[in-house]
Amino acid sequence: MNKVEHIGIAVKDIVSANKTYEALLGVAPYKSETVESEAVTTSFFQCGETKIELLEATREDSAIAKSIVKRGEGVHHIAFSVEDIEAEIARLSELGFTVLNERPKRGADNKWVAFLHPKSAHGVLVELCQEIRE
Ligand code: ZN
Repeated sequence: MNKVEHIGIAVKDIVSANKTYEALLGVAPYKSETVESEAVTTSFFQCGETKIELLEATREDSAIAKSIVKRGEGVHHIAFSVEDIEAEIARLSELGFTVLNERPKRGADNKWVAFLHPKSAHGVLVELCQEIRE
């Protein structure tokens, strides 16, 4: 793992959250994207080397909607960039981490992603992400 790629924040209303984070960070989001498979709309802000990803559910059965019902808005996951996501999934599974998707899936912002169960990381949902090069 080479850096914290982004921090994901679950929000109820991405239009209002975009304004808040634009004021906070002093930059507009550089990208907005809906990921149908995850039932989320996302927006990304660059903040130095890392990014802030805001996530709003597009359906009530979305993981983000469930998380907001359970815990309210707030930090949802921390994403680490990796060079070889398949090798990292294998390495972490071997070490006993619970990987939620054994095969990388296509996430937002042109990335392959995989998640580790929060029980494996002291309550933090960890995302592994690798830039899609093709
Ligand atoms: Zn993320």
